Amino acid sequence: MSIQPVRLFGDPVLRTPASEVTTFDAELRKLVTDLTDTMHEEGGAGLAAPQIGVSLRVFTYDVDGLTGHLINPTFEKIGEEEQLGPEGCLSIPGMSWDCRRHLHVVAHGMNMYGEPVRLDGTEMLARCVQHETDHLDGVLFVDRLDPETRKLAMAEIRAAQWFGEPAPVVKTSPHPLFGKAL
Ligand SMILES: [Zn+2]
Repeated sequence: MSIQPVRLFGDPVLRTPASEVTTFDAELRKLVTDLTDTMHEEGGAGLAAPQIGVSLRVFTYDVDGLTGHLINPTFEKIGEEEQLGPEGCLSIPGMSWDCRRHLHVVAHGMNMYGEPVRLDGTEMLARCVQHETDHLDGVLFVDRLDPETRKLAMAEIRAAQWFGEPAPVVKTSPHPLFGKAL
């Protein structure tokens, strides 16, 4: 079990588009374990690799008792229905705002052994897939808020006690790409 510090809003790694995973090795499996352990420790519904400083296209989720991970994910919406509800992010701790998302999505990707995986998501799981895939593109959910809410959110973030603190120093590299992303 290896819990990693969660990178906070303002850390450049959160704004860096992550790289596709090409090697399905023991280090990737360790990354999935670290993400899962850190997500559980922080009580999150999902966690993307850039949030622990690893710029690779991997995320984990824990929604409605279902824990899993997805590597190199893509998704498409199913139907036109949307949901508007509170959304939060471990990289913006203690805050949430209403965010509009697709109600149903289907995601495709791979598991840590390189096998194809399909994930059907509705409501919270659909929200999670969209939120975490955004992370892999360097997009944060505050970017998705309506302009009024976004203004409010940015003001709250700038006033937060944690905002502007230096990023934690990383002492070891769990993956060859790790150092490159920082
Ligand atoms: Zn997030």
